[in-house]
Amino acid sequence: MSRPQSICVFCGSRRGTDPALAHAAAELGRTLAENGITLVYGAGGIGLMDVLAQAALDAGGKVTGVMPRHLAREELLKDGLTDLHIVETMHDRKRVMFELSGAFVALPGGIGTLEETVEILSWRQLGIHDKPIVLLNAGGAWDHFEALMRGRVAAGFCAPSDLELYEIVDRVDQLLPALDMARPPRIPSFTDWT
Ligand code: AMP
Repeated sequence: MSRPQSICVFCGSRRGTDPALAHAAAELGRTLAENGITLVYGAGGIGLMDVLAQAALDAGGKVTGVMPRHLAREELLKDGLTDLHIVETMHDRKRVMFELSGAFVALPGGIGTLEETVEILSWRQLGIHDKPIVLLNAGGAWDHFEALMRGRVAAGFCAPSDLELYEIVDRVDQLLPALDMARPPRIPSFTDWT
């Protein structure tokens, strides 16, 4: 798969307790900038979102933010972004981030990050898009999600091929090679496995 020119990153509006996660966010921002890849994210100036965007800007990268009007104060709209889209709703935010991005990376986060990640996975499962999705498993932060997914497969609610909807990498330096190798998942029809 050709390398995307822009990548959407979902991540926490908090930093979390493990300092390794802020390091990973900063390394990811720098890596995107150094490879000429535009960062698309939620435009927040707090938590891992802030660390990620600032690192990309500091490294001379392009950063596009997408923020719903009603959150612009609460999430402290980040200054100095290359490009900013103010939208009306959370759904608009995800749609615009989706349209602007050729791939998705999920760093650790809270409910918002989980929701955005699961939605983009579900759209891929439904064949709405075929953009790669990578879970950046810094500090093992996505291990519980992987266990949840394997449990869904074991319980017969997910197809084994649903595990191909995403890649998991442990380190930032594995991200771009994983994207280069990414292949479309085999999406079964419901009758293939029910
Ligand atoms: P969190 O992981 O909860 O810290 O949230 C990370 C980001 O996800 C924040 O920018 C939230 O505003 C955003 N977010 C939370 N829920 C949604 C949603 N339903 N649609 C779009 N963005 C969301």
